[in-house]
Parts: sequence; C-alpha cells; structure tokens
Amino acid sequence: MRKLLKFIKPYRSAIITASGLIFIQVILELLLPTLMGNIIDIGVVEGDTNYILKTGGLMMLAASFVILFAIISIYQSSRVSMAFARDLRSEVFKKVEDFSLSEFDKIGTPSLITRTTNDITQIQQVVMMSLRIMARAPMITIGSVIMAVHKNARLSLIIVFILPVIIIAIIIVTKKGVPLFKAIQTKIDRLNQILRENLMGVRVIRAFNRVDYEKDRFKVANKDITDITIKVSKIMAIVMPAITLALNFTIIAVIWYGSINIDRGTMQVGDLMAFIQYVIQSMFYLAMLSMIFIMISRASASATRINEVLDMEPEIKDPENPRIINIKNGIVQFKDVTFSYPGAEEPALKNISFTARPGEVTAIIGGTGSGKSTLINLIPRFYDVDSGSILIDGVDIREITQKTLRESIGFVPQKSVLFTGTVADNIKYGKEDATDGEVRHATEIAQAEEFISNMKEGFSAAIAQGGTNVSGGQKQRLSIARALVRKPKIYLFDDSFSALDFKTDAKLRNALRDEVTESTLIVVSQRVSTVMDADQIIVLHEGTILGIGNHKELLKTCNVYREIVFSQLSEEEIA
Ligand code: ADP
Ligand code: MG
Repeated sequence: MRKLLKFIKPYRSAIITASGLIFIQVILELLLPTLMGNIIDIGVVEGDTNYILKTGGLMMLAASFVILFAIISIYQSSRVSMAFARDLRSEVFKKVEDFSLSEFDKIGTPSLITRTTNDITQIQQVVMMSLRIMARAPMITIGSVIMAVHKNARLSLIIVFILPVIIIAIIIVTKKGVPLFKAIQTKIDRLNQILRENLMGVRVIRAFNRVDYEKDRFKVANKDITDITIKVSKIMAIVMPAITLALNFTIIAVIWYGSINIDRGTMQVGDLMAFIQYVIQSMFYLAMLSMIFIMISRASASATRINEVLDMEPEIKDPENPRIINIKNGIVQFKDVTFSYPGAEEPALKNISFTARPGEVTAIIGGTGSGKSTLINLIPRFYDVDSGSILIDGVDIREITQKTLRESIGFVPQKSVLFTGTVADNIKYGKEDATDGEVRHATEIAQAEEFISNMKEGFSAAIAQGGTNVSGGQKQRLSIARALVRKPKIYLFDDSFSALDFKTDAKLRNALRDEVTESTLIVVSQRVSTVMDADQIIVLHEGTILGIGNHKELLKTCNVYREIVFSQLSEEEIA
C-alpha cells in the first residue's frame, strides 16, 4: 500500500487545502456541544432569551460553515481519489504493454484484468474514505475526549475503560479479515477466467452440449465468492453493533453518574448534555476509524497484487545503448539458435541455422508442433533465444530497440486477430497514415478486394469484436492486407494461407511475388503447393532442421520432405 502512495503525490496541494478546511471544521464541530450546553444552562434555566438567540445564531453560523467545508472536502476527496485511480490504471496498463509473452503466461490474462479494474477500485475507495475521515476522525476523537475531560474529569474516566475494549475489537477483526480479503480477490480472478472462457468458447460449448457443465462450473466459482464474502461480512457485521452497544452502555453510565452529580449540584444539565455529545462523537469517529482500518487491510491485499504487476520486470527489454540502424535490406539470419519455452523439458527449437534473403521466398514446412510458429515468433522478439543469435542485416536483434526491429516487420500471425472498428481501420493498423490508395492496393494483393466490395458498406463496414462477423479466410486476408500496407523489409506469414482455397492461395502468392521484390518473405505452411515454388524450403521436424533447399533438391535428399509431398500431391503434380 505504501508504495502506491506515490501516485497521490501530484495531488498533495489539494489534500493539504482540504485538510486545512477539515481542521477548521473540526474545531467548529467541537464547539457546538458546548454552545448547546450553555444555551440550556444560561438561556433556558435562567430564562435569558437574548442569550438563546445570540448563541443560537452563532451555532447556526458555525453549522453552515461545517456543512460548506464538508461539501468541499467530499468533493476534493472524490476528485483526488478518482485521479489517483486513473493514474494508477494507466501506469498498470503501460506496464502490461511492455510485457513479453512470458509475463502474460505468468500472471494470466483474467488476473491482469481483475487487477486493473476491481483491485484498483478497492484502493480508490480506501483513498477516498481515508481522505474524508482519516484526517478528521483522530482530530475529533482526541478533541472530544479533551473537551469531555475539560467538562468533567471524573466522569471522563468512563471513557478510559471503554476505549481499550473497542481497540481490541478492531485488532481482532483486522487480523481475521485480511486472509479472507486476499482470498476474495483470487476468487474473483477465477470467476473472471470462467466467464471469459465461456464467452469466447460459446460456440464450442453449445456444439458439444456442455452448457450444463459450464453452468455448474460457474455456479461453483460464484458460490465460492458468495460464501467467502458472507464470512467476511459476518465478521464485519459484529463490529458496528459491538461499538454501538459499548457506546450505549457508556451513555447509560454517564447519565447515571451525571444525574448523581446534578443532584449534588456539582454539575449542570447543559454540561451533562454537552458531555454526552462529546462521548458520542468520539466513539462514532473511533468506529469510523476502525472501518477504515478494515478497508485498508482489504485494499492492501489488492495493493500487493497491483505491485506484483508494477514490479514485474519484462524479460525482454531494450538494450541500454541500442544501436541505431536503418534496416535497409532485411536479411534474416539464424545462427545456431536453440530455444525452449519456460518450464518445458525439451527445447522447441534446436540448433537452427539459415539465412533468408531479400527478394527471395523462404518457406518453412513441417508437421504440427514441429516448431514453425515458435521460429517465426522469435524474429519479432516475442521470446528471446536461449543460445545462438538472430541477426537482421548482420546486427543481433537484441542490440536494437524493439521498435526499430518491429517497424521493419510485417507479421501475419497464425491466428488472425482483428479489432473492433471498420475494415479500413483494421488495415490501417499496419500503417496509421496510410492513404486510401495504399489501403486499396494492399487489399488487392491480399485478394480481399472482392469480398470487401461485396459488403454493403465496403471499407467502412464494421468489424465486430474478435472479427466474428467475417469468415476465417476473410480474416486472414485482412490481416495479410494489414501487414502489406506497411511495406516492411521482412514479411512473416505464419500459416496465413491455411483458410484460403487453393485458387485464392495461388493468386495471392503470385500477387505477392510481383509486389514484394525487395523484401524478405518467410512463409510457414503445411501445404506443399504453397511452398513448392519457394526459393528455399526449410523442413522442420521436432524443432530441428532436416533439410534446406528448393523443391527439386529436397525431393532427392530429404526423406521427410518426400513423405509430405507424396501424401499431398499426385504423381504428375510432383513432376
Ligand atoms: P507449429 O507452429 O509447428 O505447429 P509450435 O511452434 O506452435 O508448432 O509449437 C512447437 C512446440 O512448442 C510444441 O510442442 C508446443 O507444445 C510448444 N509450445 C508452443 N507454444 C508454447 C507456449 N506458449 N508455452 C509452452 N510451450 C509451447
Ligand atoms: Mg503454428
């Protein structure tokens, strides 16, 4: 929690002004009971109407100032706490943007979402409450006790007995509550995860008749949260009544002894009433303070989770003194690269060496799980290699900034991702300032022109979240257009033609060949027909390269390649 306080710093002056107002407010509030007591003792008992009017007017004035200052301080505390939450959220978001894929694997997407939303809201609420009460509660409690002692020191001894009881109650509740609060946040993560899976997998769930199973899964997670929240609420529920009970007993005792004093003539009625008012005030604010402590302990669970995100060092970082280069040619070179995923037993890639040159098509073929996507993902540095190196134009990609590196790459992932927006927005994602002409040209090469012009609104047609309103093949073609519009030096196509029919696939590849004569093309595919006419074909099998060469050479030298070819093509196609 303490670490997050730095996000409040910018609003220090607002807080100080508010605290000043609160201080005046507290003093006025502390005066009111005394004034009331005086009205009773001097005005009512002695029948001095003038005094009643004068002092009453004074009380009204003080009360209006109290209200005015209260409004200002509530407004300030809301403003500051909202701004604090906004800053914190954007800080977390910024941090997450810097994460490499392994950090996402570590924390998990659902948890990242809860941490950015729910956890920050928890802290924001505490900040708001603290600003409102933290300054006021101790001042009023202490001030009231002082005033009470001033009114009648012996009667005040009662407060001395009651205070420890309340403080002990607060400590017990906080101790019991904290572990439960932590648990609540993890349960929210879990619920979030199930909900996400359900919403994204809704088609599969329906198709496999798993609706009931999923309902049960959700029910369990939902009940988990409910149970634990009830448990916490039960503990919390004890605090308020307990304090009220203690308070009421205190008042009984005060009235009891007070009346004896009045009987003896050592105390006046007005004084007693003021005294009771002070006791109530001090106890009430003490109770409020205890609530704040409970809220802080809850928020500290959230703060830990947020700090975990903020403190996480991305594994992939820009070098301290990056080399400033212009990637002119886009020669991609793998030198004896070995890579394993965190926690995996076997490396996903072993001793990979090859060079992909501009103006040439380098194709990678291999069965599922052979490491094709892994190889492609290493080039934009989504993961770092374990040993060996990847060079672009002769420079190790770890020596330049990720921005420089990625600017030179047009990446089409295996799983096409589109964003909410129009068709044109999605293509311009590759190059923000692309002209309409450039966008159109990219779609022509990507063979996307026809289906876009068939859409009612053409380029302004809306794409739904996740691109669910276009087909798999259309999605692929749009993400290809997005990469093309950048005109990068290096193109990476990860199985990007898999959802296209053979004819469109061939047309697209021909158009590509004519268009990108100066860039390096790395194309992953499972289809022989897609890779056959590549300048160089790399055969990947269980993370190792079995052969490199063109179609003809590999047919002669590489058994695995021959097997793949024979399983897909007929005799005459091969010849
Ligand atoms: P391909 O694209 O050739 O089908 P991949 O490169 O996706 O194969 O996967 C190669 C191997 O790496 C597989 O055994 C797969 O299980 C493993 N793998 C892929 N992604 C991850 C990941 N994020 N974490 C751990 N292992 C992974
Ligand atoms: Mg793959």
